Amino acid sequence: MAGRCHVILIGPQGSGKGTQAARIAAPLGLVHVATGDLFRQLMTRDDDLAREVRSYYDRGELVPDDVTLRVLLSRLDELERAMPNYRGALLDGYPRNRSQAEALDRVLQDRGDTIAAVVHLAVPRAVLIERLSGRLICPQCGATYHRVFAPPRVEGLCDQCGAALVQRTDDTPEAIARRLDTYEQQTAPLLEYYRQRGLVLDIDGNQPIDEVTQAILSALEPVLGDPARCRSS
Ligand code: ADP
Ligand code: ADP
Ligand code: ZN
Repeated sequence: MAGRCHVILIGPQGSGKGTQAARIAAPLGLVHVATGDLFRQLMTRDDDLAREVRSYYDRGELVPDDVTLRVLLSRLDELERAMPNYRGALLDGYPRNRSQAEALDRVLQDRGDTIAAVVHLAVPRAVLIERLSGRLICPQCGATYHRVFAPPRVEGLCDQCGAALVQRTDDTPEAIARRLDTYEQQTAPLLEYYRQRGLVLDIDGNQPIDEVTQAILSALEPVLGDPARCRSS
């Protein structure tokens, strides 16, 4: 079936993409697809691809574009088979540079899909560092927490599945700084690429979690309901 209607989340590391995606995807009929989560899952294997990905991941560097696109496409193909009626993907962490944005345009065109909107979460850098240094994630289900701003009900354990929470191996001061620099240099310029097409919705990500969720939903609902942007399936 053709005609998926995808939404891209763009924002620096720590802006709340994963946190917000977990809250908004289902109500909007979208499926959260995070390339970072796909890589974390892949790295639990013990093979050459897992070792190659880890060598970039742990340093906070981008995995090569061809590997990343293959991993993304295989997830999209899996969704076609598993969820024939889904509206589209909520892309988190892809694209991150100009060549990935152009590759995405090509593959979506081939599939007959569209990008309905690009949600831009803006947050000042000092706040990002505070958020990332306290981030905890669930290695089992991918849920995101924060020691102070979004603590789990029981200290150290996932609310959703009960697994023991961990800090990400790349949430070290050096890897955080490198990733934020890469974002500024390679990813932020994509906003202009999408702005020219009238796709960007700017959201103030420096508010409490619930308020950010409401702001995103209010901005996206009219877009997803507009047949000119998104054919309803
Ligand atoms: P991203 O996916 O953009 O890197 P995350 O969703 O992982 O960001 O959020 C980074 C950290 O900040 C997490 O620990 C999360 O719990 C916390 N966080 C997310 N949104 C907010 C917010 N609006 N206010 C305070 N802390 C937040
Ligand atoms: P963050 O946004 O905090 O860097 P992610 O979970 O989105 O965290 O990504 C973690 C790592 O996975 C990145 O540092 C990079 O090594 C790899 N990665 C994720 N998405 C991409 C992408 N689109 N292109 C290249 N590498 C990626
Ligand atoms: Zn969990």
